[in-house]
Amino acid sequence: MSISTRLINLRNLEGGYISISIENGYFTNSNNLTSNEEDCSGLTIIPGLVDLHTHLREPGFEDAETILTGSQTAAAGGFTAVSAMPNTDPIADTAGVVEQIYRLGQTHGICDVFPIGAITVGSRGEQLAEIRAMNTSAAQTRIFSDDGNCLSSAILMRRALEYVKSFDGVIAQHAQDPQLTVDSQVNEGVISSRLGLKGWPAVAEEAIIARDVLLAEHVKSRLHICHVSTAGSVEIIRWAKARGIQVTAEVTPHHLLLTEDLVENYDPLFKVNPPLRTQRDVEALRSALVDGTIDVIATDHAPHPIERKECEWANAAFGMLGLESALSVSFKAMVESKLIPLPKLIEKMSVRPAEIAGYKDHGSIEVGKPANFTLVNFEKNWVSRPRMSKSSNDPYLGMTLPVIVQATYLRGRKVYSRNG
Ligand SMILES: [Zn+2]
Ligand SMILES: [Zn+2]
Repeated sequence: MSISTRLINLRNLEGGYISISIENGYFTNSNNLTSNEEDCSGLTIIPGLVDLHTHLREPGFEDAETILTGSQTAAAGGFTAVSAMPNTDPIADTAGVVEQIYRLGQTHGICDVFPIGAITVGSRGEQLAEIRAMNTSAAQTRIFSDDGNCLSSAILMRRALEYVKSFDGVIAQHAQDPQLTVDSQVNEGVISSRLGLKGWPAVAEEAIIARDVLLAEHVKSRLHICHVSTAGSVEIIRWAKARGIQVTAEVTPHHLLLTEDLVENYDPLFKVNPPLRTQRDVEALRSALVDGTIDVIATDHAPHPIERKECEWANAAFGMLGLESALSVSFKAMVESKLIPLPKLIEKMSVRPAEIAGYKDHGSIEVGKPANFTLVNFEKNWVSRPRMSKSSNDPYLGMTLPVIVQATYLRGRKVYSRNG
């Protein structure tokens, strides 16, 4: 059966008005469709957002999020594809587990879920996981990370980088020297001293990034740096890119907007890994996104059940929700502040992440391609509260944010609509 839809009076990112036709899940330019017409005046069409860094918690931590609720949360944030980090239980370190995650995502059909495989068995940093088997599985995993943990062994990092070269894979590093961050709670500096909380020095991130870009250069392989959070990290990545090293980097919306000052009242909502840093770091991260040193914005959506966040600071889990607010927060940090124009922001949140991960069905609005897109109202505000996630650790709770995601479409099917 042929299913066709036509959306008229849409705005595109250049500010013009367009109409689009969808047939059997693909964008078409056919004009004589017999179809439902929907007038979308005022809404802007963007390619579905793509996240390189999401925690969906299933299998093992379904009290925090599931692949279903995570997909619904992603769709509500305008995402059509997310990369699921492997720190589940069991860890996604075998072909069996990545396939299970991938198939569950496909079964729900709300957002494409692409599992990231663990680099090492159990993400314990002791021996390489079955990287090849995960890549050749139905999940076709191409990105590998021990996220949550840093892969601190230089020899394993070297071997992993060598290993993924044959299939153009990517090693994504959570850069945190474990010895420099034992019991660390907040950014190391004046505020950590005043609060009496163990500091988390910038050098713990920077030292690992410096080592890893050199390893990536040595073996000529692809390295991706997760959640860059310091001005020093930006300088190292900028230097590495200038040398032609194959490194890409991401920054989270929260590191683009929030600073360490928010931890002063010991509210664990602002406890995150890496920690919120200084205003100077925030400015360096924004500039790095403008000049391309940082390639993409990734959410690091990290849901936690209420008992893991509503407790004493030291006992609380690290992490914040991010999928539903990502577009709004990034827009506020980068476009409202006039640092980049809107099309550039969408490039950082859709086009470029799809390129890095090789998600060919995402990141573009093009005749002949699957109709994965989002309709957005850039003129309206909303008050942040988590609506789809199973968890409620939203650092923007109650804050008025710009930009409303009105509807999200996956392969031509409306998978989310703000009006129900
Ligand atoms: Zn991480
Ligand atoms: Zn993470």
